[in-house]
Amino acid sequence: MHVPLTVNDFLDRAATVYPQRTAVVDEPDQPAAPLGPWTYEQLAGAARSQAAALDRLGVGVGARVAIVSHNSARLLTSFFGVSGSGRVLVPVNFRLAPAEVEYIVGHSGSEVLLVDPELTGLLDTVKAEHTFVLGECDDEFFSGRDAGRPWEGDETATATINYTSGTTARPKGVQLTHRNIWINAATFALHVTLSDRDVLLHTLPMFHANGWGMPYALTGVGGRHIVLRKVDGAEVLRRVEEHGVTVMCGAPAVLAMVLDAAATWDGPIPGRDRVRVIVAGAPPPTRTIERIETELGWEFIQIYGLTETSPLLTVNRRRQEWDDLDPSTRARKLGSAGAPALGVTIRTDESGEVLARSNVVLESYWEQPAESAQALEGGWFHTGDGGSFENGYLTISDRKKDVIISGGENVSSIEVEDALASHPHVREVAVVGTPDEKWGEAVTALIVTDGTPLTADDVIAHCRERLAGYKCPKRVEFRDELPRTATGKLQKFKLRADFWQGQDRPIQG
Ligand code: AMP
Repeated sequence: MHVPLTVNDFLDRAATVYPQRTAVVDEPDQPAAPLGPWTYEQLAGAARSQAAALDRLGVGVGARVAIVSHNSARLLTSFFGVSGSGRVLVPVNFRLAPAEVEYIVGHSGSEVLLVDPELTGLLDTVKAEHTFVLGECDDEFFSGRDAGRPWEGDETATATINYTSGTTARPKGVQLTHRNIWINAATFALHVTLSDRDVLLHTLPMFHANGWGMPYALTGVGGRHIVLRKVDGAEVLRRVEEHGVTVMCGAPAVLAMVLDAAATWDGPIPGRDRVRVIVAGAPPPTRTIERIETELGWEFIQIYGLTETSPLLTVNRRRQEWDDLDPSTRARKLGSAGAPALGVTIRTDESGEVLARSNVVLESYWEQPAESAQALEGGWFHTGDGGSFENGYLTISDRKKDVIISGGENVSSIEVEDALASHPHVREVAVVGTPDEKWGEAVTALIVTDGTPLTADDVIAHCRERLAGYKCPKRVEFRDELPRTATGKLQKFKLRADFWQGQDRPIQG
């Protein structure tokens, strides 16, 4: 028998098996009135009514629905209400500048745009056929009173398009199918042993690779979602205590914030011997891994993957053989990206690039056939990361693509260079990632002017008008010239080398 794998499986199961259980506790401190707490029956009802609202608007199967929102119960619902009714959800990074959101809404051809009330300024410039402010359309979208037309389900249909900054000046839309999402959620749940006892604190933005798939996986096992709108170390500890949190995901920067807050926390650390933290986005320093175990008493799990791979490719979790090791030796073992997840094959090519084959690999980039063919050349997904794969474990050692990862979010160097080069007095520019205690890497611009004196503030202000704040340079240095090859190609590795000397971390921009 062949039954299509769709996102509905996760919510249908929870609504059948755990109808009266609390499914989601919304963020209490947000500009729209918080929803719920909702049981799984209510969450399923809200998703059905969102589908009914789309029916009424005449939004057809396959049409795109963009949502720009901080973490919220409304966004969580949309993963099911939109995709589960055969439409395509486009979760957009809420930190982007209006022009960037406008590009994504236009490029994806989104017919509907749902916007967080804090971001209504966006609506001055960004237009879709139907636009709504979240919180003002609850009665229409999330009432739970009506149900949309049922969708027969197609596992090869696109469920979400996730725009990600990569190696091109514009972000690319990663098309994930229901099947990609299903398999990622199931293998993720297996490797981190999710169960109906789990309480997940949403420390990861849900727009980022669909919160790595946790909205689906945790729902499928009947766990509880605790929404967190803004990450703050002490607030994370408070919520862990208040809600009995057992699991969370995040970039190393999130953990650094929690460790800082723990240093001045009054009383025992909440969640000791209970919480597991799943970390990805950049290799966390070994010392951080050790401190999570010794100072917080939380289990550290590292995963590696990309938006393009749904994302789970490898997982590094304490294995039985490591139980008797001392914490610092164990932290070193946990410092690598990990072993292939079930159903993933990893290898490296002659140049050291990490390649992967799996059912979690994207279908294609939205309307970018050349980029898609390149990424999937030879039947392998090309990650753009450099590394080695030995004894079943993958180590990421450098990045072959021109991407900076700051606080877990990708920044395309080319995109920032483009924005800076549009300044009338900037003659040449190179943007590289340099080591940064808090963010892992800091966006750093090296600039040659046309002779007109410029300050770092001038340059940053120019960038802020065009790009999201987190993409704008944190450091700016002025140079007389930039190193180039005989053929005029920028030698970025030379620029980076000065900054990365003596660092124990492997990523060099
Ligand atoms: P994104 O698509 O935004 O999730 O970014 C994916 C990129 O993050 C990968 O290509 C890697 O460069 C980086 N990354 C993710 N997880 C890890 C990890 N565990 N170690 C090193 N780099 C990572």
